[in-house]
Amino acid sequence: METKINLLKEKLNQELKNINDSKSLYSLQSSYLGKTGEISLMMRELGKVDKEERPKLGQIINQLKEWAISKFFNASQTIKLNELLSRYKNEEIDVTLPAKSQKYGSLHPITLVTNELLDIFTGLGFYVYEGPEIENDYYCFTALNLPKDHPARDMQDTFYLSEDLLLRVQTSAGQIRAMEQNKPPLKVVVPGRVYRIDDLDSTHSPMFHQMEGLVIDKHVTLCDLKGVLEILAKKMFGEESKTRLRPSFFPFTEPSVEVDVTCCGCGGKGCKICKNTGWIEVLGAGMVHPNVIKNAGLDPEIYSGFAFGVGLERIAILKYGIKDLKWLYENDVRFLSQFKI
Ligand SMILES: [Zn+2]
Repeated sequence: METKINLLKEKLNQELKNINDSKSLYSLQSSYLGKTGEISLMMRELGKVDKEERPKLGQIINQLKEWAISKFFNASQTIKLNELLSRYKNEEIDVTLPAKSQKYGSLHPITLVTNELLDIFTGLGFYVYEGPEIENDYYCFTALNLPKDHPARDMQDTFYLSEDLLLRVQTSAGQIRAMEQNKPPLKVVVPGRVYRIDDLDSTHSPMFHQMEGLVIDKHVTLCDLKGVLEILAKKMFGEESKTRLRPSFFPFTEPSVEVDVTCCGCGGKGCKICKNTGWIEVLGAGMVHPNVIKNAGLDPEIYSGFAFGVGLERIAILKYGIKDLKWLYENDVRFLSQFKI
């Protein structure tokens, strides 16, 4: 019996040496340990052996079985590892191959200008408020010192949705809401879309973007407004930029001013863009009208403030030298892809 076992062990060792894949290993394992495998058959033959011999022989065959199981286990570990290594080798990626080029989007010039202005104003301590685009008559006109019979209402060509609801014609509509929600001192900017009945051409659009700025506190003066606008001009158009205020009229500010900055096309010397004046008009501003302060529930004897409204399309056109307003709305990728940060 011992000889038979030794021969079997030797045979198994020899056969294992020639195996180098999982499938062959599995079939070899079955031929020894499977139901009709050689070791299983030896177990069955125990029945034919003398009763006295049986326990000893059974133990020996069990040991042989254990030995075979561990042999097959070790062999399977080695084979699996080799198979994995060869798979890694076959599936190796050549990292030196040129990559497929990826197309990246870019931010819209209006978004770039908005972000830049928000950076400047939040840096100066302003917070950002976004009012509704569908506004009611009160916030858009009446509270801004434009009562129903006010002649200046004719200046606006408003999209009315009902007698009271309209698409806001200016981000100034956010002024009263901001004042109602927060007590002074107040420093807020209101960016967003505004709407006016107009045909789309190279200088007009029925929808465009504005950013309103509002400061309300005790003892706010026109000098504070000029200071803020100078910082804005220098950050937006370069350190050399200067600002100039000209008298103007808006119903919600008194006094009202138009603000010019040094022409970015010629640095103030005079060119086609500035019609040889050296200055470019960029925004309207002024000291908040006492009636507006009163309408927001504050005492104009105690509080004063300034407000300004920037047209974002205008800033984008000046900053990037865009010749036609329509280009901003046509979604032409050839145009838009030039505005990479
Ligand atoms: Zn110029």
